[in-house]
Amino acid sequence: MVWLALGLYTDLRLPFDPMFENPLVKDLAEKYKPLWALDSVSALLEWDMETYMPLGSSKQRGVAVAQTQLLRQEGMLQLLDLITRAEMSKGLNDSEAGFVRVLRRDLDYYTKVPPKLLEDILRTATEGTVVWREARKKSDFSMFKPYLEKMVDLKREEAEKLGYEGHPYNALMDRFEEGITTNDVDRIFAPLGSDLKGILAKVVSEGEFPSAHPLEGIRYEETAMKRVNDDALKLLQMPEKTFRMDVSTHPFTTSMSVQDVRITTRYEGKDFKASLFSTIHESGHAIYELQIDPSLDYTPLSRATSLGVHESQSRFWENFIGRSREFVKGIYPSLKSNLPFVVRYNEDEIYRYINSVKPSLIRTDADEVTYNFHIMLRYELEKKLIGGELEVTEAPEVWRDLMEKYVGVRPRNDAEGILQDVHWSGGMIGYFATYSLGNVIAGMFYNRIQKDLDLKTSVANAQLGRIKDWLREKLHNYGATYSPKDIQKRIFGETYNPQWLIKYLQEKYLA
Ligand SMILES: [Zn+2]
Repeated sequence: MVWLALGLYTDLRLPFDPMFENPLVKDLAEKYKPLWALDSVSALLEWDMETYMPLGSSKQRGVAVAQTQLLRQEGMLQLLDLITRAEMSKGLNDSEAGFVRVLRRDLDYYTKVPPKLLEDILRTATEGTVVWREARKKSDFSMFKPYLEKMVDLKREEAEKLGYEGHPYNALMDRFEEGITTNDVDRIFAPLGSDLKGILAKVVSEGEFPSAHPLEGIRYEETAMKRVNDDALKLLQMPEKTFRMDVSTHPFTTSMSVQDVRITTRYEGKDFKASLFSTIHESGHAIYELQIDPSLDYTPLSRATSLGVHESQSRFWENFIGRSREFVKGIYPSLKSNLPFVVRYNEDEIYRYINSVKPSLIRTDADEVTYNFHIMLRYELEKKLIGGELEVTEAPEVWRDLMEKYVGVRPRNDAEGILQDVHWSGGMIGYFATYSLGNVIAGMFYNRIQKDLDLKTSVANAQLGRIKDWLREKLHNYGATYSPKDIQKRIFGETYNPQWLIKYLQEKYLA
């Protein structure tokens, strides 16, 4: 049977079996356990803060989270010697090498960024977020401007401390997407931007996918919508014992361990697709975390390898699966029985409603075709701010110009423009590109998986478990063992190729 095993190597490969054999790594793994526990505690504290905590204790909870993270930082610094010795060990296997790599990345931030700078960033973020909320409400950028200027200065300093090759923005992006550079992102965004522009122009002129739909205005009962979301979770075969869903203003996914992964969804009372696709999006994130090999629990490898790869999983389930005709067919009976107004619309109408394409001003409302433009704009702005090629004062006007250039609409005020996202006030500069990288990688998965299984038939027959198994074997199992570029090379033989996303969008919207 050897010939068969060789011929079907990838299919017959043994399940991932991470083994820590090196004595230094085994020792490190034991000493890391309390830090893993602190991460788990922080995650639970934060989950509770967004879901059930009485509002009155938000200040104390903030202190509790910060103190927990401080303890973790102290604990990490104590591992410095051991990590350095483990790095020098010869012949580490993949799991051991990944383990040491991830710890070193964590540690680097603590050792390279001075405590005073870290404190300044945190304080500016806390104060800036409060002011940003008020500024957005009043649509007054001048209120937020000094905080953004301060944050940009601090982040430029952070980039200097962290070190980089090429552009200083590389140091900031690397925190969220290991190894990514402005050269990579420029290479990805150039063809993506020009091809998307062509797709958008055609979609708008042909009118097959509407820019607005009457269903957007129809109100629903929250309890009824909850039943639809529960049915979606059943279709996705989410496990009952290790997963749960709650409600929060901004949906998110978190995990306390591989055996306890939680998502939240939102109910705004109308336009039911927002609630349904938040649920599916976060479930995509959750499937990744739930399918990490359990033997990686208690280690820093029991997490996603990067934000971009994490986002590829949520987007894959939300857009490539959830917004397909086959999935609509599967969820339609639940929609019809729970939301009485749906009976007036057939499956085809529901498909057009959930796939409407509309050039719009707000990123979080954007559709599959226009979404990446919102990211390109933010990437371009951040890169210039950090590179010192653009002053914060000029940013709102540049935002308006870029919006017009990319999406063809111009914000009338700053609330619809530069003030719409929370990221900058919180110091998350270098983050935005990962959303589009996620879309690009999702396109690569969509292309690659169809070489091994009939995707449409699997969805049509409600056999989503097959798709989950495939993703587990190729990606989820490994957690953070391989860097985002390395795991892509293993799966696809290439990294961040936007061609597959473009092909998918062309086939879907222009066919
Ligand atoms: Zn996401």
